[in-house]
Parts: sequence; structure tokens; C-alpha cells
Amino acid sequence: MIRTHLLPCHLPKHEADALNRESGRISTKTLVTHDRVYRKKGTKRRHWLSRGAAERLGDYLLRDDPPLLHAHRKDAAQQGFYNAITTAHANRQLGAKFPYRRKRWRTTIWKETGIRVAATETGTLLLLARARGLAPIRVRLPPAITMLPCWRVREVRLVWDRAARHDTWHVVVEDGQRPAPPPGTAVVAVDLGEVHPAACTDGTETVIIAARRVRATQQYTAKRLAALRRQQARQTKGSRRHRRLQRRKNRFLAQQRRRVRDLEHTVSRAVVAFAVERRAGTLALGDVRTVADGKRLNRNSQQKVSSWSHGRQRQYITYKAEAAGIRVVLVDEAYSSQTCPNPDCKHRYKPQGRVYRCPACGLRAPPKGHPDAVGAANLLSRFLYGAVGQIRPPPQTTYRRPAAFGQAEHA
Ligand SMILES: [Zn+2]
Repeated sequence: MIRTHLLPCHLPKHEADALNRESGRISTKTLVTHDRVYRKKGTKRRHWLSRGAAERLGDYLLRDDPPLLHAHRKDAAQQGFYNAITTAHANRQLGAKFPYRRKRWRTTIWKETGIRVAATETGTLLLLARARGLAPIRVRLPPAITMLPCWRVREVRLVWDRAARHDTWHVVVEDGQRPAPPPGTAVVAVDLGEVHPAACTDGTETVIIAARRVRATQQYTAKRLAALRRQQARQTKGSRRHRRLQRRKNRFLAQQRRRVRDLEHTVSRAVVAFAVERRAGTLALGDVRTVADGKRLNRNSQQKVSSWSHGRQRQYITYKAEAAGIRVVLVDEAYSSQTCPNPDCKHRYKPQGRVYRCPACGLRAPPKGHPDAVGAANLLSRFLYGAVGQIRPPPQTTYRRPAAFGQAEHA
């Protein structure tokens, strides 16, 4: 399995900055070269450089620069641009843009060809290649990595941590470990909700992961950000005060992002813990993707649904589940928390409050029938039987707060 380890960076600030500035400059140069060639050809015959041609041209344009990065690092910085283009192509319908911004900074990436491992008396070191004539950068590996029975470093990134205001090494390690055997054969369905982060069911019990902190963090972020924006609007753009507020805003956002990420990890741990308890072999995870044709919703509804970054939440649940030996299957979650789970009714309505009560047949999701419990049951039914209505929301609903917020809470 592949894991990313975060290590403190002891490189002097000016050296680390020089590397990331160099990476930023190379990718900007690649971008600008493309743009110039593209425009020169006029509107009728726009010419898009092939990757090979662009790399050769890039090398030519960069020929006089004092080299700081090893040739491979240069390639990595250029490749970042092409990867961004490929991603933009794939997501054009969602409104993705091609890279256009000039970057002063960019994370420097070492691939396997630029990384060597050296065992010394004081420990194991990573040697990261720089340009010819410059000594490689030495990074000490912690026992957490070197004690693994079979490990291999795949990639190293020099990342500026905006919130903490220091550089960090991100070391991507293949640990050679196989995932655990599945805990059982049961199926657990997970509905990522709007009110609560997740509702899980195996058909006999519903567990709703309740973390009020998630929503509170989101609301606080919006409020504080609005205040900073108002303050900034009163200043002249480009003034010292304006720039200072900009820095404060960036730092605050970076901090909040880290907080939200921690919460999302906590929620996904709780979801996987429930699946393991229930001896699941499969986790049916609700997804906005229509499974049949692989299409996604249009941009607006997608955004509405994913205001909590369900995408990242799904990603965290997936890798934690897979590490526990549980297979993850995406199930279309369209209207799953709105459709009545009564097979003779299947009426669709949007529950207004916190109780699900079907206006057509009067079905009530038991007890304190929360719409999320209906959503999870419908997802399970959709996965097992291909349609909603085969599984009723189980009578027992438990609210559980992830470990970080105190003990389990029963309702
Ligand atoms: Zn009904």
C-alpha cells in the first residue's frame, strides 16, 4: 500500500525557497511558451505544441539559466503542466479551466530516478539529486519508515505548509504490506448527508455519524472570511495593509482546510469502524455519479451536493476501508434520501424537517425517522436489489459521535 509520510524539513529557508521558485519558473515558462506559440498562429489555425516539441523548446529556452534542479526535476515541473491540461480536458464539462496562471512557486517533486537511499551510522538518509555540481539534499528517514519490512520511496515533494509557515517533506512510500483479509461478507451502505456527515446501515441497524463540529467549522470559516474580505475592501489594493490582510486570509484558510481535513478523517474512521464491527466485506458508498453512464450532475447541483467536499470524504473512506480489507462500490445516490422506501409507493418528496414522513402512504422512518436513515436504506437496497424499496429503514437508529468528540450517544 502507498502511504505519504510528512517529515519536517531542515533545509535553510532560502535553499528551499530557491528550489520551489525554480520549479515555479519552469512551469510558468512552459505555460508562456505554449501560449505564445498558440497565439502567434492566429485565430484560424491555432497550433498546439506536442509534448515532445514543447519539452525540446522548453529545454532550449531554459538553456542559459543557472541550473539548480536536476534534469529530472525539470521534467517533473514541466509534466505538472501537462497533467493539468489532461485533467482540464477531462473535466471541461464541469467548467474546469486550462492552466493560465503564472506561478512564482511550485512544489518541487523528485521521482524515483532522482532519489537514492544511503545507510549511514546515524541512520538511513534519502539523497535527492540537484543539478550537476551541487551536492544532493539529505533527508533523514524516521524509523516509522525504515522499520517497515519492505519499503520503497516512490516520490518526494518539497511542500510549503501555508498554515504552519514552514517547509515539509512529503515522502511517498510503498510499504509492501498487503491489505487485511475482509472482516466478513456483510454489506454496509453509507450515505453522505447534508445535516450529518454520514449515515450507515447494514439493514438491521442505522448508525448516524454526528459531528456538529463539521458544520460549525464551515460556518465559522464563512463568517470570518467575510469579515476579512470586508476589512480588505476598505484598503487600497496593493497597499501594505491590503497585502497584510491577504496574508492573514491565506493563513486562516489554510488552517481551516487542515481542520476540515482532520474532521473528515475522523468521520471516515468512524464509518469504517462500523463496517468492521458489522463484519462487512463490501461498503456501498453513495455517489452523485450515475453508475450506468458514468455521467456526473451539472456543475450547480454538483456544487450544492458537495459543499462538504464529499469527494474527499469518499476518498478517505475508500482508502481506510481498503486497508481494512473491505471492497468499496459506488452506488448512485440520486434521490436516495427523498424516495419513499415503501415498495408500493416510492413517492418522491423532499423532507423539510428532521423527520421523514411520506405524504403519499404515511410511512415514517422509525424512530425519530431521520431522512439520512432513509437514504442509507435506499442505497443498500439499490446495491443489493438494483432498486429502491426492498429494504426498509431498520427500527434501531444510533447516533454516534466520532471518538474525538466524546463517547457514543444513543437516541
Ligand atoms: Zn410512501
